Amino acid sequence: NKMLEIIKAMKSYGVGDSATAALKGVSLTVKNGDFIVLLGASGSGKSTLLNIMSGLERPDSGAVKYDGKDIAALPDKEMTAFRKEKVGFIFQQYYLMPGLSVDKNVKMGADLAGNRDYRKIIDAVGLGGKLGKLPFELSGGEQQRVSIARALAKKPKVLFLDEPTGALDEETGRQILDYICVLQKELGFSLVMVTHNVNIAEMAHEVVRMNSGNIVETVHNNEQKTAY
Ligand code: ADP
Ligand code: ADP
Repeated sequence: NKMLEIIKAMKSYGVGDSATAALKGVSLTVKNGDFIVLLGASGSGKSTLLNIMSGLERPDSGAVKYDGKDIAALPDKEMTAFRKEKVGFIFQQYYLMPGLSVDKNVKMGADLAGNRDYRKIIDAVGLGGKLGKLPFELSGGEQQRVSIARALAKKPKVLFLDEPTGALDEETGRQILDYICVLQKELGFSLVMVTHNVNIAEMAHEVVRMNSGNIVETVHNNEQKTAY
């Protein structure tokens, strides 16, 4: 059940003396239905790890295996195609198409993966009554729900979230997280989330702590700590 396996991923930015080692050989396994939270100080490598897991970036070395297939070994075109079809990504910014309605924004996600039944996902995030609205007519929380629906319309095996509630007030952020947790139980995808929010970390199955490009601690909920 190793749906996604990161093996000894290394990544540096820049060259020579000014190079930054963002990941120093990170290994991590995501099983079907997992909810993993990545914690750590700014600059510890969380976003880089998320980007590499999702195929947004390529590691310098190491493997990124989805059901045994290493996407980091694919040519650029195929790696991009894999990400567009199979991976859901939510950012702090919503990146909605400003000229497209709620319905059309979510349809874009569905079209990437060749899915037709995206309407019920719009209903599931509570936006069934706002199909024709444009992004600027929605609140921040509603816009983030559109971006979640767009990502889930691909029926991804795993949904990656980088500080998804960072731009929202606490109450709205909480609602968004509740939606995501309900949808996860319903649709059965895995969740990998970067957050600084300790309350969210408590909801996760596994909390992975990073420090200067390494995983330094993994806490399984209701289990003992694994120190490295
Ligand atoms: P966070 O700490 O929440 O990850 P950052 O501001 O560190 O936010 O990073 C935001 C984005 O900018 C990330 O996707 C990261 O890859 C990129 N980034 C971070 N540091 C640098 C840098 N020194 N030069 C260029 N891009 C960077
Ligand atoms: P975090 O998400 O934990 O804040 P990042 O993965 O964004 O950490 O960054 C890890 C390290 O890599 C930091 O030192 C950051 O400045 C650097 N970095 C990240 N992205 C880039 C980039 N595109 N160009 C240069 N340096 C980067």
